[in-house]
Amino acid sequence: VNEVIDDITIHWHKTFLNFESWLPVNSHINGLSRNGKYIIIELDKSYLVIHLRMTGQIIIHNSNAFPDQHLRLSIKMKSGNYFNFYDARKFGRIYHVCDPEFVSKKVGIDALSDNLNFSRFYELLKSRKKKIKTFLMDQSIIAGIGNIYADESLFLSKIHPETLTDLISEKKAKMLYENIKTILKAAIKNMGTTISDYKTTGGGFGGFQNKLQVYGRKGLPCFSCGSEIQKIKLNGRGTHFCPSCQPENRS
Ligand SMILES: [Zn+2]
Repeated sequence: VNEVIDDITIHWHKTFLNFESWLPVNSHINGLSRNGKYIIIELDKSYLVIHLRMTGQIIIHNSNAFPDQHLRLSIKMKSGNYFNFYDARKFGRIYHVCDPEFVSKKVGIDALSDNLNFSRFYELLKSRKKKIKTFLMDQSIIAGIGNIYADESLFLSKIHPETLTDLISEKKAKMLYENIKTILKAAIKNMGTTISDYKTTGGGFGGFQNKLQVYGRKGLPCFSCGSEIQKIKLNGRGTHFCPSCQPENRS
């Protein structure tokens, strides 16, 4: 924040989707925010909206001596700092838009938003009949819960990932609501989870991978009861749970 953009170099054209006819050169960076999985950079007259997808990395460099492997876009600041976007698999996107509603039109309510109180969460839960993990991952309902954090939240709440939303009691729903907020806040405090490609803006690793209870622990003993953690596929995504702590609810 407070940097001024001097130049933007696009190394891979598909990474950058310019919805305007101009580039925001000479613009100040006035603010940073997030909605769901979108990172929003507020400029003078427009926004840069970033989605890292699978392998995107934002790395800040204080000189032009930086690696160029997988570099897709580089923003040179007047201060001499560089804001670089690296992306091995090229699924990440940077949008340049003037419409401040660009992101909110794409996603539901952010999981950490103050507007998502328990009654709103419970109302959303009861308005859909879906497997709970599928519900949590649907960014058009609640935004910002990824695969890892969905598995961890369900484990803490002792809910089987395939439980249908209409079978979840108000008491369980309350636990889940609290645990989602706890897990996401802890992950942010620990600078994220580095399983494969994710890096912090300083180029370092996150710290939350060391705190995971079920994700990536297939076949290992549950920290709570010692049972073997199981992994299943749900909507194509690896889903981890403890069969004893999270029994299937067939009632
Ligand atoms: Zn267990």
